[in-house]
Amino acid sequence: MRNKNVLKVFKTIHKLTKEGPLTRKELTRKSEFSSGTISNHVNTLLKEDYLIEEDIGDSTGGRKPVYLNINAQRNYLLSIDIRVDGIKIYLFDLNLKPVSSYELKIAMKDFKKAISRLIEKINEVLTSENINLDKLIGIGVSVPGLIDEQREVLIFAPNLEWRKVNLAAELTEHFAVPVLVENDANCAVVGEKYQLYPEINNIVYVFIKEGVGCGVIINNELYRGTKGNAGEFGHMIVDYSKSAIPCYCGSKGCWETVASEVYILKRSQQALKNSGLTLNKSRIPELAKSNDKIKDIIKETGYNIGIGAVNIINSLSPKYLVFGGGIKKYKKYIGAEIKVAVENRTLESFSQDTEIVFSQLDDRAISIGMANLLFNNFFEIEQTKG
Ligand SMILES: [Zn+2]
Repeated sequence: MRNKNVLKVFKTIHKLTKEGPLTRKELTRKSEFSSGTISNHVNTLLKEDYLIEEDIGDSTGGRKPVYLNINAQRNYLLSIDIRVDGIKIYLFDLNLKPVSSYELKIAMKDFKKAISRLIEKINEVLTSENINLDKLIGIGVSVPGLIDEQREVLIFAPNLEWRKVNLAAELTEHFAVPVLVENDANCAVVGEKYQLYPEINNIVYVFIKEGVGCGVIINNELYRGTKGNAGEFGHMIVDYSKSAIPCYCGSKGCWETVASEVYILKRSQQALKNSGLTLNKSRIPELAKSNDKIKDIIKETGYNIGIGAVNIINSLSPKYLVFGGGIKKYKKYIGAEIKVAVENRTLESFSQDTEIVFSQLDDRAISIGMANLLFNNFFEIEQTKG
């Protein structure tokens, strides 16, 4: 699809048919285009197989209305979610609906091994789903770390201990399709917006698990800053006292040093040092139910998260501030604490403007967001060819 206007119409139809097929008349009514424009470009899109006609209308005499829909099986997208505990692979159709998902539970610290297992798995997925490479419009890789400007190289992922790995090059060597590398929180904010808040133009997504990652949408655009990694709120300084906790980034007192699952674990281990209990991350939620010390640590972490939220709201005044990631399992302890911090310490005129919510999509936000970014990236590339 090389023609800009055809693409514009296609993207509009793609958006409008999210809830189901529509007639040409309905498309014209719901879009900014004239019936002539719709009709012209729809014909082109039908010819190129991007659209299909469905006659699903109930016939009460007369001609059945012809409904148009995206030809979902025309193309596919692969969204790869790189995590500290393994890799998740999601296949999407052109409608950006998930078709299937797979999981690789592997040790991640050895990059070479992880990537070769991933390549094997992608081949397996394509074979078992019976998808030719020419139907795949892209592979997107979401990573818990910083990426380069071209969105090809993962510069640093502290929790994976991966540094300067060219994920795009590794994958394009085996699969001749566009490969996009993106920070996981950036994907998540795009996913949440697309699925839940399509009309909202200012959203911040805070992804809290081992560390804190953030994705920022300002004026309907993913905000990347100068080199693509803007929104590292995890490293804003919330404690500059002498006792501030050192951060892997080289600084001290960063928000994520007091507002992550790692913080909860370390503090809990300290608190139970003499109790004979050995503690790991997965035991904490259960233990919190009966142990007040642990409960207090989680609540304190909630307040610490709230302090970061105050800074974000005061600086960006988003309509939604979404919290996702592993921290969500502590929602009932931290939700109220975040609200207390925000109510007491945000600029008064700002605090009512931002709604604080927990992610409803969880991990799916990342893959849905990635599929969206791939979709837009693919058509951008197509345009530059034309
Ligand atoms: Zn830091």
